[in-house]
Parts: sequence; structure tokens; C-alpha cells
Amino acid sequence: MSRALKSESSLCLECGICCDGTLFSNVRLKESDRPELLRALGLPVRQRGQLLRFSQPCAALCGTHCAVYKNRPSHCREFDCLVLTRLRKGELTREKALGLIRRARRLAKAADRGLRRLGETDGAAPVKLRFARMSKAMEASQDACSGKAARTFGEVSETMHRLHLILSEEFFR
Ligand code: SF4
Ligand code: SF4
Repeated sequence: MSRALKSESSLCLECGICCDGTLFSNVRLKESDRPELLRALGLPVRQRGQLLRFSQPCAALCGTHCAVYKNRPSHCREFDCLVLTRLRKGELTREKALGLIRRARRLAKAADRGLRRLGETDGAAPVKLRFARMSKAMEASQDACSGKAARTFGEVSETMHRLHLILSEEFFR
């Protein structure tokens, strides 16, 4: 493997945000995928209307590694984020690419911590969904505009905004 290729593949091993519910909420299967095999490998593939899909954070994600890498679905094989694409084209150095990944991961972790402080502890759901649930709960709550919870919610909202910006500008448009 060339040095450039090594650098690309190891970048994903330091990231995982397209698998952990930060960038996507679910993975849709394509015709070429084998749902039974993926189910047997532990992925909770479900039918939704005409679509077969499974939710993120992905059950096959171990740290930042894919436990079903050789059998991963088409979407996962085909998806390259902009950071990876730009690294391949030489438009980003590895250090810059890693810097963007670390920033996005830090923001996602900060949002997770804030949501947990507010009682939204469902780590099995994508961070955007958890934030949407919390926003609804805050709107409905009589205490929403007062005290510590309101301050924490304000911080989480700002963090989610910054996360959205970096994801939409640098990773996936
Ligand atoms: S978001 Fe990009 S760098 Fe990160 S794991 Fe996915 S493809 Fe790799
Ligand atoms: S199957 Fe593997 S590559 Fe696809 S979302 Fe899950 S961990 Fe990521």
C-alpha cells in the first residue's frame, strides 16, 4: 500500500463520525446488499415502507472500527466525506484533516455531555435526534426559560449549531 493510501485509510480509523450518529441518523440498504447477512452480523436492519435501513450509532462500530468491514453495506463502501476526498486530492494535509475530525468529535462529545446533563441519556440514538427531542421537551416545559436547565440548553444549542456548521461545510454538503 502506498504511503498516501495508508494515510487515507488510517484517517477513518481516527474518525468514525459517519458511523456513530454524528453525520447520519441511519444507513439505507441498496439492492446489492444482503439484509439477512447484515442481520446475522448484528445489524438491526428494519423495513420502513419500501426501504430497508438500520439506525446509527451503528451496532457494528467498535470505537472507530467497523466490526463488519468486509461485509459492510454499499452505502458504507461508497461514502467518502469531503475531508477524505480533499485529502486524496492533495487539497488538505493529513494534519488539517485530523484537525477537522477532532473538532467535529469534540463538539459531538460536548453536545452529548450537555444532553446527558439535561436528562437526555439515550446514547443509542443519533445526537441530532436527541437534540430535537430535548428541544421539544424544553418548549413544552414550564421551567424552560429559567435556571440552570435553560443555561445548559442554551450551551447545547450553540454547540449543535457549531457542529452543524462544521459537518455541512467540511464533511458532507
Ligand atoms: S467521516 Fe470521513 S474521515 Fe470520518 S470515517 Fe467517515 S469517511 Fe472517514
Ligand atoms: S456497517 Fe461499518 S461502515 Fe457501515 S455504518 Fe456500521 S460501522 Fe460504519
